Amino acid sequence: MSTSSEKVTPMMRQYLEIKQKYPDTLVFYRLGDFYELFYDDAKKASELLDLTLTRRGTNNGDPIPMAGVPFHSVEGYLAKLIKLGESAVICEQVGDPAASKGMMIRKVSKIITPGTVTDEGIAPDRTDNQIASIFKGKRYYGFAALSLGSGKFKTAIAANEKSLRLLLDKSTPVEILIPENLKIASNLLNDIVCKKKLAPWYFDFQGSYNLLCKQFGTNSLIGFDIEDLDEGICAAGALLAYVKDTQNVSLQHIKSILREENSASVILDKCAQRNLELLTNLRGESRGSLLSILDKTHTAMGSRLLKRFIVEPLRNNQIIENRLNLVEELINSSEKDNLTKYLSEIGDLERITARIGLNSARPRDLAKLREAISLTPQIKESLNCIEGESFKAFNDKLNPLPQIYELLYKAIAPEPAALLREGNVIADGYNTELDELRELMSGSAKIIKEIEEREKLRTRITSLKVNFNQVHGYYIDIPKTHSAKVPEDYIRRQTLKNNERFITPELKELEEKTLNAQSRSLIIEKELYEDILQKLQQNLNELIKLASSLSFLDVILSFAQVAESNNYTRPTLVNESYIEIKEGRHPVVESLSNFPFMTNNLELGKTKRIAVISGPNMGGKSTFMRQNALIAIMTRIGSFVPAKKAVIGDIDRIFTRIGASDDLASGRSTFMVEMEETATILNNATYQSLVLMDEVGRGTSGEEGSSIAQSIVEYLCEKLKPLTLFSTHYTEVTDLAEKFPNAENLCFNAEEKNGQIYFLYHAETGKQSKSFGIEVAKLAGLPYEVIAHALKKRQQVSEIHIESKNFTQATNAPEVATLPESEKKDSFYNEEITKHAKLIKFLKDINLENTTPLQAFKILEKILNISKN
Ligand code: ATP
Repeated sequence: MSTSSEKVTPMMRQYLEIKQKYPDTLVFYRLGDFYELFYDDAKKASELLDLTLTRRGTNNGDPIPMAGVPFHSVEGYLAKLIKLGESAVICEQVGDPAASKGMMIRKVSKIITPGTVTDEGIAPDRTDNQIASIFKGKRYYGFAALSLGSGKFKTAIAANEKSLRLLLDKSTPVEILIPENLKIASNLLNDIVCKKKLAPWYFDFQGSYNLLCKQFGTNSLIGFDIEDLDEGICAAGALLAYVKDTQNVSLQHIKSILREENSASVILDKCAQRNLELLTNLRGESRGSLLSILDKTHTAMGSRLLKRFIVEPLRNNQIIENRLNLVEELINSSEKDNLTKYLSEIGDLERITARIGLNSARPRDLAKLREAISLTPQIKESLNCIEGESFKAFNDKLNPLPQIYELLYKAIAPEPAALLREGNVIADGYNTELDELRELMSGSAKIIKEIEEREKLRTRITSLKVNFNQVHGYYIDIPKTHSAKVPEDYIRRQTLKNNERFITPELKELEEKTLNAQSRSLIIEKELYEDILQKLQQNLNELIKLASSLSFLDVILSFAQVAESNNYTRPTLVNESYIEIKEGRHPVVESLSNFPFMTNNLELGKTKRIAVISGPNMGGKSTFMRQNALIAIMTRIGSFVPAKKAVIGDIDRIFTRIGASDDLASGRSTFMVEMEETATILNNATYQSLVLMDEVGRGTSGEEGSSIAQSIVEYLCEKLKPLTLFSTHYTEVTDLAEKFPNAENLCFNAEEKNGQIYFLYHAETGKQSKSFGIEVAKLAGLPYEVIAHALKKRQQVSEIHIESKNFTQATNAPEVATLPESEKKDSFYNEEITKHAKLIKFLKDINLENTTPLQAFKILEKILNISKN
């Protein structure tokens, strides 16, 4: 883009001056009823927003590309940009366009960025859009995250990039600030589209410390328990400075900062969140996620809080017990319908409170706030009817804020205009001068009507009308057909095709009075509105508390309603590393499937720490593993669970190695991703962790995969001993599990009848006898030839049995017929053993028992070929 402003119009010169300050951000420049973008911004916006690219004038002879959006629908376009991780600078016309003579002045009114936007219609309703910042000090990384929409601000330090990543996974920021000289691993911030580089001075320790103290009105940061987090303070200070720059206000609702500790919650990294489908399913949609089952909230703020709960299950049993008590008390009460009704009308109190703190609350925000507060006494009354200590304590702390209700009731019109500049925002009776001006304005409307009637009589022109427009003010409109009857005292102002327009001294005088009254009343309304906002800001703490209590109540109500409709039970919490689940179900599978869900049990922690799960493909192994992790998570967020009984102990982190996916962007193959995730587990899991590993090793050759899987199980059994669910198809692994006293084999079985397989979906002690892989492939619709060929191959392989383990087993195996009844297994197994024994006998007979099975197989194959030829 040429920045030469020599040959451009004054309007464009003004634009270029502003654009120069924001080279990397799309500038929306107000021109009348449109926001226009120019040059490269226009090209980019036309692509991103599907706008028509036009041109406006030239600069040094070159046409200036332009694209625009109508001002009344700008919010939808901005929302789209924010979703794409883009930011926008909004330039408004300053002053009254009608009154201004010469060029309009434009100023930056707002900078909209993905992590700082709180405006209704632009910020995502049900998602908490957070902004984070990171800093690298001599010893640690500093981290800070802010949710401007709720005012929640936190900071932490991290010893390495992995711990830093965990902090990011918990906050999932949509915008991140980094010092421009920071060197970090290229993939650390891969998933955050909007990255902003800041000059190093933003992160200066002393400057940051002082800025934070100033924001919180304190002399030090000791009270927030972050005094020792030097790098965290640098990150938090930079973040605050940046947000202040973009918002251009004092951020009154940010009153404190929290010390973030990874140890306070069950760590769920991105991989675990995705694999367990906590917030979205594997395709990124909300259907099929745990959230979709649990989210029956009635407010957007409640929904956002629930999301935070789900990715941050707690380790503090006392807090969870309190939530469970509340859920139970609510289930036992008859107040759920009443509370549903009230909460459905509350609206997004949290965001409204934030906008009050940011000085950007609109008149209808205040009307909505008034409605919410008017419902609080009814909510309190309803809560009073719930029996139980927990709700009593909760209700005692719920302040209905009558003084704020009174202020809003008196000050804000029952149905205020959308924008302050439209007037009619302040209620009648709140201010005497405003009332008088309004009387004058409505009085003049009456007078106009009277003049119109009088003039109709006088001129005998029944179609005469007194109208108003911005250019001519009040005028008399007369059809040309009556021109001859126009009185002499009318002054002609405009001649149209069919009509003529006239003014009179009387109308001019009235117009002046009315317009003066109108502009004066707008000035007064603006002053009064600012005063009301200030009064509300003085009560921000109380408003923040009310919003957070009501969103919490919304989540508890959602838990109670879901528990009741899905037949969940209250789990029990214990301190040790232990899980016991009786008749557990998968919350999502049971709700989506048309078939009855088969319940399953699990007990791990005391003698057994590791369950090795085998069974046929499609047998229910993954579902079982996930359902146990989900029940643990649901317990630790305070929800009832889909089980007859659940006892859940302390868990520091849930690790998952499930499913196969390439990470082509960072050049990692499926197997590499699998091994990296496995490495993360083996290097970080502790005795307190819950580990889910689904068919590890299947991404490479059978022999190597099995060897890796075996040594992982050994390592877990002997060294780390976390609570583990390890599913496998490798018989070597299930055999190995029998050797460890702290491991057990669980098996899912299927039955084959008349060529059909029936899955039992039931976990029993024991190991799998058959994988049913080909049968499942047939169900999936593989071509008949492929299935037939595969069945033949399986038959050959099982006849020859080249695997060394089976060879040894067969060598030692007696004929089944000679086995005692108790040792005989199912018919398939018996048949196999008998075949092996026969094979080995044959090999011995021809002196081949000392060769490896593969060599023996090859020799046999050759003999057969020679005899054939
Ligand atoms: P694979 O080895 O092929 O990965 P798997 O053993 O892990 O298979 P799952 O994916 O857990 O099998 O289950 C397959 C399907 O079976 C599920 O999608 C679900 O529809 C159904 N299913 C699983 N468990 C149950 C259950 N307990 N009750 C009813 N249906 C179930």
